[in-house]
Amino acid sequence: MYEEYGEVIKNASLQNYNTYRILTYTKYLIKPFNINDLKELVNKLNIDKVKYYVLGKGSNVILPDESFDGVIISLENINKVEINNNLVYAEAGVILNKLVIDTINNNLQGLENLANIPGTLGGALKGNAGANGSEIYDYLKDVMVLRNNEILTINKEDIEYSYRHTMFKNNNDIIIGCHLQLNEGNKEELLEKVRENKEKRKNSQPLNLPNAGSVFKNPLNNSAGKLIDELGLKGFNINDAYISNIHANFIVNKGNCKSKDIKELIAYIKDKVYNKYKINLELEQVIIEWE
Ligand SMILES: Cc1cc2nc3c(=O)[nH]c(=O)nc-3n(C[C@H](O)[C@H](O)[C@H](O)COP(=O)(O)OP(=O)(O)OC[C@H]3O[C@@H](n4cnc5c(N)ncnc54)[C@H](O)[C@@H]3O)c2cc1C
Repeated sequence: MYEEYGEVIKNASLQNYNTYRILTYTKYLIKPFNINDLKELVNKLNIDKVKYYVLGKGSNVILPDESFDGVIISLENINKVEINNNLVYAEAGVILNKLVIDTINNNLQGLENLANIPGTLGGALKGNAGANGSEIYDYLKDVMVLRNNEILTINKEDIEYSYRHTMFKNNNDIIIGCHLQLNEGNKEELLEKVRENKEKRKNSQPLNLPNAGSVFKNPLNNSAGKLIDELGLKGFNINDAYISNIHANFIVNKGNCKSKDIKELIAYIKDKVYNKYKINLELEQVIIEWE
């Protein structure tokens, strides 16, 4: 049906498209071959009035248990990276960690603190991913998006963004790539930093069980994990959804966890934290509802 625009998989499982590994399905999973095919595909879906949703690696989402009666678009084939002196052009489907390592191998400094954040560049640009005091927007020059069947370049000055938030969370733009302006750096020193950060992650995050990173944003001058931990909630569960024993701001899937279990656990934590501290924890993860 849409084969001319990309690889089409019918009745596809999305278990490998969300890092909680929730078992849910979509009528079509389509991976456009390039940006032009993506543009044509979206145009056709709009004409056909078919619902669609763009997913990266699903490392920041809670997918619904119900199947999607539409098209999941994956940009994994739209993943070019071009490095010209300090200027980097990267397409949204590239794995963020691959981009980080590519830039370091070119002796470019700027993205090293973002190494080992799972997911794609597109997901990172949507949510302003960051770690160790750095954010993807720190070195950003512009973002290219598909909006109303047109490809636009939006300069950084015209993008509203803040901690784990950007204006793209409130609109229907499909992010297709960006330019980053990096600094010259020393490859060996930068790789050493990446190794140190990886070790820190290994010791402080439940990387052996499916999860989608931090559940809640840190409240101003506070730590969501610390607040949840102080309530003695580590290890608390609803069915197979558990609050991690390693980091209280992580929920892990210890088996066949349903979306419903995670959402109930989130509501439970929010309630407990509000009752004790009068703090309204804000979700960092995105709860998706098919429309
Ligand atoms: C173990 C672990 C550790 C993590 N550590 C960190 C961390 O240190 N810092 C941090 O910031 N995050 C962290 N995360 C969260 C996650 O990795 C990031 O939010 C990541 O940027 C999400 O990328 P993704 O491709 O998986 O996006 P997805 O989860 O697939 O999508 C997230 C949202 O972006 C939208 N989206 C994705 N691609 C596009 C696109 N091209 N155009 C328009 N919309 C798009 C989706 O529709 C969805 O709404 C962690 C997650 C895990 C599992």
